[in-house]
Amino acid sequence: MNPKLLFWVPVALRLAFGAAGVGVLWWWLGPTTALWTALLLVLGMALVQLHYLFQLSGWLDNPHSAKLPDGWGEWTPVFSRLYRMRRDDEKNKAELTEWLARFRQAMHLLPDGVVIMDDVLFLEWCNPAAEEHLGLRQERDKGMRVTNLVRSPDFMDYLILGRYDQPLTLSFRGRKLIVHIIPFENRRQILVTHDVTETERTDMMRRDFIANASHELRTPLTVIVGFLEIAASEQLDKDTRQAHLKLMMEQGHRMQHLIEDMLTLSRLESLDHPMRAERVDVVQLLQRVQRDAQALSTGKHEITLDVQGGDVMGSCDELYSAFGNLAANAVRYTPAGGRIDLRWEDTASGVRFVVRDNGIGISREHISRLTERFYRVDKSRSRETQGTGLGLAIVKHVLLRHSGTLTIESEPGKGSTFTVNLPKSLTASPAQLAAHAA
Ligand code: ADP
Repeated sequence: MNPKLLFWVPVALRLAFGAAGVGVLWWWLGPTTALWTALLLVLGMALVQLHYLFQLSGWLDNPHSAKLPDGWGEWTPVFSRLYRMRRDDEKNKAELTEWLARFRQAMHLLPDGVVIMDDVLFLEWCNPAAEEHLGLRQERDKGMRVTNLVRSPDFMDYLILGRYDQPLTLSFRGRKLIVHIIPFENRRQILVTHDVTETERTDMMRRDFIANASHELRTPLTVIVGFLEIAASEQLDKDTRQAHLKLMMEQGHRMQHLIEDMLTLSRLESLDHPMRAERVDVVQLLQRVQRDAQALSTGKHEITLDVQGGDVMGSCDELYSAFGNLAANAVRYTPAGGRIDLRWEDTASGVRFVVRDNGIGISREHISRLTERFYRVDKSRSRETQGTGLGLAIVKHVLLRHSGTLTIESEPGKGSTFTVNLPKSLTASPAQLAAHAA
């Protein structure tokens, strides 16, 4: 039914009943009694209205805790509608609080920074990622101008010029950030920061790798093409031709080594090739490494092997590649007559492989960079000895896949010690050894 009718019909009925009652009294007991009765009725009704008005006013002062009365007469629908409104309001509020909590949680977990500023760039709110990216503190900096907090000329120019159709690439506090500004709600703007430091670094590494690899391949290729041009344009005697062929072959092998090493590295880095752990027969593996080193040395070095530690679980091929690279380096960077010791031993934290030489050594400033791809202390020496500049990068990746570490100690002119530490988790258990023997 129409709410207006619902209100007015009982009121009209009550008034009609009252008037009829007074009319009956007038006819029966005379006008004086009827008028006094009417006056008392009006007074009673006024008192009832005042009572409920007083209750309503008390409830409005404290609508949370005070309970609404049921009411009487026309007050009943008023109070019940107020009660329904209050209940809906509380439900909406609870929903809103829940949404706000979820929104806050999402903003806390967001890897991108979000800053809400007013139209004159005063900070209103920011999430933890924005605090980290821009060095802000929500509690401390609220109400301060963002350009005073983020002190960077590029950032200030960007905000002052207000050309927000293009994002800003900002270098700030050792990070590379992509900054977007999005105006919203007439007088507010959202600033979003996206950290691209890591992506930039890997992009740069990839670019460097391609440039280095191309350079490394171009040098031997130039030599080969040069000799081929000579051979095509001149009649060469047999000795010269033989000498040219020998040099071309050397350059060809160099390219071959380089490509093999690049493929090994890419396999090691690829997620599609997870490390397959098998029991590694360390004595057999290290004897092979020693034999290869002896072949490379052609009897010019004394190469010893001492195996004290137990077997490990790991990738045989990968460990052979890593240990072989370390032993080959020891041969290549130790002058003839030098000594190279290969040692395998148990340690408190696992097991270690040590390659010690008394070769040319490495000065301190180079040590931390040796495992970078194509990093060489002496380029010409590395090339003379068929080096690709990728050997220690391969070692690093193999060890990463085996949760191992490499430490390098060296003194120029005295020699170097390369130590591979493998964790206890890789040391083969008796059950694994028995399973393999069966
Ligand atoms: P390369 O193919 O040039 O040997 P590596 O990655 O194996 O590349 O080694 C990087 C550089 O580390 C080498 O160029 C060399 O300068 C240095 N190096 C590695 N092992 C030794 C060592 N045992 N003694 C001296 N220098 C070494």
